[in-house]
Formats: sequence, structure tokens, C-alpha cells
Amino acid sequence: MIRARLNPASHAEIQPKRTVGVLLPLPLAGAYDYKLPPGVDAPRGTLVAAPLGNREVLGAVWGKAEGTVGDNRLKEAVPLDGAPRLPGKLCDFIDWVADYTLNPPGAILAMALRSRGAFEPETKRIAYVRGSVTPPRMSAARVRALEVASDGLARSVTGLAEDANVSAAVVRGLVTAGALIPTELPEFAPFKQPEASFAAPKLSEDQSAAATSLRDAVTDAKFSAHLLDGVTGSGKTEVYFEAIAAALESGKQVMILLPEIALTVQFLERFAARFGVRPAEWHSDLSQKERRRTYRAVMNGEARVIVGARSSLFLPFPELGLIIVDEEHEQAFKQQEGAIYHARDMAVVRARIENCPVVLASATPSLESFVNAGQGRYSHLKLVSRHGVAQMPEVRLIDLRRSVDNGSLTLAGHDAPDAEKKAQWLSPPLRAALETTLAAGEQAMLFLNRRGYAPLTLCEACGHKFTCPHCSAWLVEHKYKKRLACHQCGYQLPMPSSCPQCHETGTLIACGPGVERVAEEFALFFPEARFAIASSDILQGPAETQGAIRAMARREIDVLIGTQIVAKGHHFPQLTLVGVVDADLGGSDGDLRARERTFQLLHQVSGRAGRAEKPGLVLLQTRNPEDAVMQALARGDRDGFYEQERSSREAYAAPPYGRLAALVVSGYDGEAVREIARQLGKCAPNARDVKVWGPTPAFYALLRGQTRERLLVQAAKSVDVQAYLKSWLAGRKVPASVRVAVDVDPVSFF
Ligand code: ADP
Ligand code: ZN
Repeated sequence: MIRARLNPASHAEIQPKRTVGVLLPLPLAGAYDYKLPPGVDAPRGTLVAAPLGNREVLGAVWGKAEGTVGDNRLKEAVPLDGAPRLPGKLCDFIDWVADYTLNPPGAILAMALRSRGAFEPETKRIAYVRGSVTPPRMSAARVRALEVASDGLARSVTGLAEDANVSAAVVRGLVTAGALIPTELPEFAPFKQPEASFAAPKLSEDQSAAATSLRDAVTDAKFSAHLLDGVTGSGKTEVYFEAIAAALESGKQVMILLPEIALTVQFLERFAARFGVRPAEWHSDLSQKERRRTYRAVMNGEARVIVGARSSLFLPFPELGLIIVDEEHEQAFKQQEGAIYHARDMAVVRARIENCPVVLASATPSLESFVNAGQGRYSHLKLVSRHGVAQMPEVRLIDLRRSVDNGSLTLAGHDAPDAEKKAQWLSPPLRAALETTLAAGEQAMLFLNRRGYAPLTLCEACGHKFTCPHCSAWLVEHKYKKRLACHQCGYQLPMPSSCPQCHETGTLIACGPGVERVAEEFALFFPEARFAIASSDILQGPAETQGAIRAMARREIDVLIGTQIVAKGHHFPQLTLVGVVDADLGGSDGDLRARERTFQLLHQVSGRAGRAEKPGLVLLQTRNPEDAVMQALARGDRDGFYEQERSSREAYAAPPYGRLAALVVSGYDGEAVREIARQLGKCAPNARDVKVWGPTPAFYALLRGQTRERLLVQAAKSVDVQAYLKSWLAGRKVPASVRVAVDVDPVSFF
């Protein structure tokens, strides 16, 4: 313990007790005043145990005390043993995020603090090694156990018992006899260190140029932002690995953000192939123990490279030298629950505060990053061709209005009554291409961005539709699990056999396809082919999804049928055909980013095809082949699409040429929610270049039992939106049953 205490007796008169502001990881207004123990100095970030009511909470010294409460009434906050401290730059970052997102700083601190256990020294476990004593009474079992133990390794009682094939009692007897000596081992083996030059690839000329810029930026050790913009398979990962190597060489830590945990498995293996060991991981699937361990290792600098989901942003790196955001366009980087923030945008902020480079990588950048690169705020590093001999796949449109099979191919309609070989979702050209691909011994992927079997179940007799009792959403049929499920809240019920409204039996029909249904049809036409379904799902766990993806990578299956989970990042060398079952999905919901998203998703999916020697083919089934998105995809005219999208955003002063912020009013009491939303709408301040729309019911007007209303602020780029929102919300009384959430830079409008 290195808690520096001055002698209180001699200093009490000359040195008044220090008071400080302590931030608690709670959604309170700000820091609270506390006094420190006599003679203790605690700089910003110092972790303290602070009394709050009748409990004690973990907090961080944040700054000067407000001084509004008399010193004698202040409670004492005590620094933790060993004086652990959040890095000052992390504290600055927390304040910045709180200001920008209009969340109380304590709510942001909560994302950066782990349990107190993370700040205590690691727990040890006891293991035994061979001592010098040999007990007088020796049995055959004892001899075996001591023989095994004489290799010098430390083992637990059960470990040694297993290795020597004796009972635990034998081992314990030897401990009592003094033949085995206890020793303390750390709970976990230390993190292995990645090696910068473990297996460096030979880069192409393009890759080399990009890698050199990034290496220089890392050695410069100043803030800079880089858009690493390269077609799928061009080697973006290899290129940013060089930047990571540079950071390792200069003794800096690295943070890599990925949009989904499902992407990490392949990534970890790739990283290990390049740097010799896996990086440390950070995401919600870790156990409490692993989290504590990893947090501690980041904080003490033992973990050099961390790969994780958006929450890694708030880890206490003392020596951060590089941030990578892969698939930077992904909406999954936007956290929608609790404190609403965009991890990509905040990664750029953290890099600025840490004074280090940030790399945003994507084959289909967000329009925001595209514009930032175009305006020179980010350096634009381009990789224009695929690595090696791989070519970009050919993309063809299948016009579903023409290409029908006996008139029954329909994406929106009902079941065909019989299960004869009548295709409903796979058009003849797509089936022909599947046939060719499978015959050639290659792999295919079928993509449909809809989970489950069918998105809607209705009763043919009375028209009853199955909807969620807690959400304004249909229940999705999951045929394998024989359940209807709400994809918003997880509500489920066993698949009913009769209609709950008219009580007829045999009248329930499935409408439209989900991946399971596409798989069913596929199996009907290709009974020999091996396939798996990958869908991030409440009914299919991540392990199952990972299993399907791994089976595809190991070539144990021929066809992977999946939702957006299969669209990103994966590299399947034998995959030559991608069939998009419904390319129009999501293109028509009219929100600002719908077109951008559709383009990105379909481009990413297409990018899975033909990533090695064999050329790839992509077939997009659509009812709108003339649509600009479809045309751009078919022509491979990515930049044309971006330019068109950019100029239309500019014309409408939409982001990034204007600002948006949303207020989402929600609660279980629908009347109260609507009333508060109405009042907020009425009292919106008038300001130049600001328009307020709404309130209107949200897309999910009911979600998890809560009524939701939205208001949208549209403002010119020059407007200080945060100041506007603050003045609007200041002093507003909102009953405890209603929540008003602020979403600055909303990316979805659900
Ligand atoms: P991207 O991230 O742009 O989709 P990747 O980095 O995944 O591209 O590269 C695609 C494939 O090509 C990967 O299997 C990768 O290992 C390989 N590759 C890319 N560049 C090189 C290189 N210079 N040397 C060897 N293999 C490379
Ligand atoms: Zn629901």
C-alpha cells in the first residue's frame, strides 16, 4: 500500500483538509463535493470509495470542489489501496462525450469504471511444487505423485492428482507430510505480447503506400484521421496491421473497434497469424473475471492490443498510440440504449484527446467519412484493386417482375399450398447459378436480411395477424424452434395450432420469407447440398452462428444462408456465388440513410464473392432494377453512387451538411408520454436556422411495452445544437414515469 499519509497532527493547523469534486458512476447532475483524508492529495482520476446515503460507491476525483456545502458537513472519500487512477485523458474524454451527447458525466463514467475488484491486486491461487522432504511412509501412489511433481511445475491438488492418476487425498497427504510445498500463482497467465514482425506480409505497391502513411502517422504520435478506403479483399486489414506493428514498435497500445462480436473469431485468428498471439478481447460475452483481468491489463499496460466492441472506447489505456475502427460505416457502432453515442465519431474524439492517429477502414465508407476525406479533414488512403489475382465480382440484376416460376415466385405473398417443386424465393436464374457453382465444387452464399422463417403469420379465415403484445411489431415465425417471437423485445410463444381470434384450426399461414424459409426451399431443390443458417438471433445463439461461419470457412458446407451477419468481414476463398434473395428490403423506408445503407449492405455482401483465384458472381433479385442503387451496384459504380448521394444531402442540407438531433419520449403511461411530447413540441424555442418537427409516434410506437414519441431538430451546420437542446430542456419538469432521451446525430429513426 502506497497511500501517502502525512502526519495529521503536525499539519492539521497549517494545511486545511482538501475538498474535491468526486464523480460517481450514476446519472446524477455532476460531481459531488467530498473531503479527502487529512494530508492526502488525489489528482484527477484517482479512484475513491465515497459514502453515498448508507452505502459506499466507487467514484473518481474529478476536479475542484464546488464549495457550496460547508466543509464540516462533507463526507470523506478515501482513495483505494495502491492509489489506482484513471488516466487524465480518459477523464477529459468522458467529459467531452457527456457534453456532446448531453448525458450526465456520471452516466458516461459508468461505462468506464469496472467493479472495485478490477482495482485490487489480482487474486492468487495456490499450487504445489515438490519440496525436499520425502515422507517415511511411501505408497505406490505417493511415489507416482512425487515423480510427476519433480518436473518442477506448480500444480493444483486436483491438477496433480489427475496428472499422476492418484486420488486428491494422496496429494493432500503429501502436502501435510511436507513433501509438496504451496506456492502462489497468478489467477491467469499473463497476456502474451504480440510481435511486430512475427509474420509480416509482402505488400503490394498500393498497400505499401497506404501502410507507409499510417506508419508515419503512428511514429509522428500526433492526432490525425485516415479513411482507409479499399474495395473488399484489397488488403485493408493487412495495411492497418502495419500501423499496429508501428505502434507496437514504439511501445504504444492499440485499440481496434469491430462492429460485432461475431466478427471477432476470424479476426483473432488472423491477428495471431500476423503477430504470433491473439490480442486481448473486450465485449459483453466475457465473464466478470475475464473483464476484471482485461481491464486491469489495459490499465497497467500489460495488454498492448485490445480488440472489441464499442464499449472498448472507455477503457483506461495509459499509452494509447493508435485507434482502428474497422467497417466504420456500420450502424452497430451507434449505441442506442442508455447513453446514446456513436462509437466511430467518439473514437475520432478520443484520438484527438490522446493525440494519436485514428484509422477508419471500410469498403463502403459512411457518407460522413467520405465527405470528411473529400474535404481534406481525413487523409484518404485508397486501395483500388483486390489483392493478388482476385477480381471484383460481376454483379447481375434479376428482375423479379419477369423472372417468375409458373407465376408463383413472390417475395411478399403467401405460401403456395403444396410443397411441390414450385419456387417462391429462388428464381430460375439464381437456381441455375447455384447448380453450376455446386457442380464445380465451389461455395455459395444466399443472403436475406430477415431472421426466422416468416415475418408475418396470419389467419386465413378471419385475417388475424400475430403481433407482439408489448411492441408495434409482428411476431416472426421460427420454424425449427416452433415458436413465434418478437425481434424487438424477445417475447415468444409456442407456435399455435389454431387462431386465437376465430379458433379455426389449420388456417394459419406464413407470409413472406425469412432465412429459414429460404433454406427450406433451397433444401427442396438441392437435397444433396450441405448448408447452414447463420443469423444473429434471439433463438440462434452466437455460438451456433459462429459454428455456421466456421463450417463455411473450413469448407464443411457448400452453402451459407444468412442475414446481415454473413455480409461483413468474412473471407471464404472458395465462395464464388452470392445470391441476394430480396435486394429491395430496407430500401424504401424513406429515412435519410436508407439508400446509403442498402448500398453498403449489398456491396458488402457482394464483396464476399470471388475473393481468391476463381471469379465471383453476384445475383441480386429485385423488383426495382431501374433504381439508382441497383444500377450503381450492377455497374460497379461506387463513386458515382456516393457522389449522387452526397450532392442530394448537400441540396437538402442533410447530414453531414446540416445537423440533426432527436428527442425520444418514452414510458409505460402512453397518455403521459404523449402529453409530455406535446408540451415539448409547444415550448421548442425559436432559433435561427433551427426547425423542430413532431412530435410523431416513433416507428415502433410501442416498444417493450413503452409508448414512444419522437421530435426531430433540424439545424444548419453552424448551429450549436447542444446549446439549443440545453435551453429547450432546461427546467422542463418531466414526471418520473416518462423518459426524455436525447439522440444527437441520430442514425436511425425507429
Ligand atoms: P480487406 O480487409 O480489404 O477486405 P483483407 O486484408 O482481408 O482485405 O485481404 C483479403 C485477403 O488477401 C486476405 O486473405 C489477406 O490475407 C490477403 N492479402 C491481402 N494483402 C496481402 C499481401 N500483401 N500478402 C499476402 N496476402 C494478402
Ligand atoms: Zn415485442
